[in-house]
Amino acid sequence: MKSVLNYFKEIFSALRSLWGGMRVTGSYFLRPGQIVTQKYPENRKQLKMYDAFKGEVSMPHDENNQHKCTGCGICQINCPNGSIEVISKKITTEDGKTERIIDKHIYHLSMCTFCELCIKTCPSDALAWGQDFEHAVFNKSKLTKQLNQAGSTLKKVVKNNTPANDTIKANSNLENKQTNN
Ligand code: SF4
Ligand code: SF4
Repeated sequence: MKSVLNYFKEIFSALRSLWGGMRVTGSYFLRPGQIVTQKYPENRKQLKMYDAFKGEVSMPHDENNQHKCTGCGICQINCPNGSIEVISKKITTEDGKTERIIDKHIYHLSMCTFCELCIKTCPSDALAWGQDFEHAVFNKSKLTKQLNQAGSTLKKVVKNNTPANDTIKANSNLENKQTNN
């Protein structure tokens, strides 16, 4: 007799639990405006990530296709994973001087651990976090990106900066780490 009672108790408890879940689902079904779940990927174009979101390292360019990267290579030195390659080239300016400028700023997203050292230690403030997060690819080579856009130039206001204090600190930390290993 007891086991029959328990059997019906369990059925009742399961139905009550089912009703609780269905009540929530039903209420949102009747008030679709209050659903907080984002309709991704339909809302891809309107989707705005949080400012602090670290999607990938990027190099902001202004409306004149100008960036702030002087090609100093400090970000490459400070990256603990070899995720950055700075390829620079020499050019002759209009007044006959030889100048070194950035040719390609290569970023290997697949090796990046998002430590932010490159961004924090760039003396020209040329790097920032981009908010793109759709990084799924079939071919890993697509995760290697050139951050300086085609035809872009250096902003005139940016001088060839000397390493900032935190860069020197980062370098010395890195060297200590390597010595200890
Ligand atoms: S540290 Fe900054 S300025 Fe120097 S190469 Fe890297 S991004 Fe360019
Ligand atoms: S965030 Fe860190 S790991 Fe990624 S490129 Fe910059 S320094 Fe390298």
